[in-house]
Amino acid sequence: MQPVVLTRDQHGISRQQISDNALKVLYRLNKGGYEAYLVGGGVRDLLLGRQPKDFDVATNATPEQVKGLFSNCRLVGRRFRLAHVLFGRDVIEVATFRGHHHSVNTSKHVSSRSKEGMLLRDNVYGTIEEDAERRDFTVNALYYNIADFTVLGFAGGLADLEARRLDLIGDPETRYREDPVRMLRAVRFSAKLGLSISPRTEAPIRELAPLLTDIPPARLFEETLKLLLAGQGVETYRQLQHYGLFAPLFPEAFEVMGRGNNRYGRFIELALANTDERIAQEQRVTPAFLYAALLWGPVETRTQEFVNEGGLGYHDAFMLAADEVISRQVKSVAIPRRFSTVVRDIWQLQDRLTKRAGKRPFRLLEHPKFRAGYDFLLLRAELDPRLRELADWWTDFQQANPMERHPVGHHPADRQQQSRPARNSNDNEGSSRKRKRRRPRRKKES
Ligand code: ATP
Ligand code: MG
Repeated sequence: MQPVVLTRDQHGISRQQISDNALKVLYRLNKGGYEAYLVGGGVRDLLLGRQPKDFDVATNATPEQVKGLFSNCRLVGRRFRLAHVLFGRDVIEVATFRGHHHSVNTSKHVSSRSKEGMLLRDNVYGTIEEDAERRDFTVNALYYNIADFTVLGFAGGLADLEARRLDLIGDPETRYREDPVRMLRAVRFSAKLGLSISPRTEAPIRELAPLLTDIPPARLFEETLKLLLAGQGVETYRQLQHYGLFAPLFPEAFEVMGRGNNRYGRFIELALANTDERIAQEQRVTPAFLYAALLWGPVETRTQEFVNEGGLGYHDAFMLAADEVISRQVKSVAIPRRFSTVVRDIWQLQDRLTKRAGKRPFRLLEHPKFRAGYDFLLLRAELDPRLRELADWWTDFQQANPMERHPVGHHPADRQQQSRPARNSNDNEGSSRKRKRRRPRRKKES
């Protein structure tokens, strides 16, 4: 575990590329007499010429010692104890060098493993060499030293980065068993950074994929967002399917689409392509829309089954199906309630959007999630020609009836888009007429 050292003039990282907050933390630790490094993804991304998502710091100071240096510091995590230094909404994560588990007095509070070899506690501290060895991929075992601006690359990380190769440190099977989420990270980094997964790192994934069912649903929710809502959703989704990682995350969705190439699979890819495009245009995206798409197959299928076999009316069948699909899904990947209520709204709107008679369409325009429901219908219509007429009808109907709806449909960014036709349209007199006609009617009604 001797590192390759790049001196200041041998690499392209400059302090201007590092956030002020991260620099503050590094300097303060260093002045306090500790070693302080920018580590992992931050260094990797800078060397690749990309803007890092966040900056993480590694040090030989213990979490308590870090807390002693910063008043704006909180200690978090049990499985993996860390210091968070807070600057408003920006958080710099400071991790103490991790050591080997067998080397010291391993009390259960410091280190523990499950029967499957999963690390339940990882709070044994050590040296930078040991820390590097405990990181997941070689390209993540990179350290930028604030004391002399050198970059240290352990485990061949610098050469792998050069070769665009993603390779686990140590024995892949052991490392996946310690933390099955590393399988998801492999796919994520490969898709996001265009790295190819080395054969030995790739080999055990398919067989070990079911270990993901042991990971708490809340952690998988976070990981799933990083996988599918980071701009490379389509590519990531295909890789998840390829490695058998999609099934343990979304078992119901997997089941209805068999081997991943029927229409529900295509629907998911379409939704992800749509999301990727929004991200490329720097528009915000919400998990609810994506989850609505991921689970649409199971909901449609179950609804039909309840109608055919249970003799229920469509509405009741649908409500039952939606409940069932969500409550089964959250056993694998959590969906926080603030999102699952929107998921339901989007689904429910699909039926309501078919009712075009009388005043109903006008009322529907005011539904807070109308825009998301309509976007979802457009997506469905791309795969199902029978829905095109309906989708076009709603497109025209909105243009003819611009109004101040509750903002926020699919995404907060829709706010402007939604009201724009109303404000800009010179050629839209018909719409204002309709609007006037409508108001008295509604008054009578109430
Ligand atoms: P990004 O921030 O772009 O998602 P990252 O590599 O910085 O990528 P983080 O989750 O921020 O990922 O973790 C920071 C670093 O901590 C990683 O680069 C890696 O060295 C280490 N690390 C994170 N998760 C694990 C894990 N499950 N097992 C081993 N090391 C990990
Ligand atoms: Mg990071």
